[in-house]
Amino acid sequence: MTKNLTSIDPYSPSVGYYECLECSYRESSAERLGTCPMCEGQVHNIAVPRE
Ligand SMILES: [Zn+2]
Repeated sequence: MTKNLTSIDPYSPSVGYYECLECSYRESSAERLGTCPMCEGQVHNIAVPRE
C-alpha cells in the first residue's frame, strides 16, 4: 500500500467546503470564507457535519 502524504482528506472535519451562490465556484478552506474570491459573491458552507 502506498500512502500519499500530499493527498487531501476530503472528509477532514477541520476543513470547510464553500460554494459561491453567484458563480458556483467551490473552495475548500480551513478558514471561514465570507465572500467568493472570484466574484466576491456570497458563499455558503456545503460541508455538512455528520454526527
Ligand atoms: Zn463567485
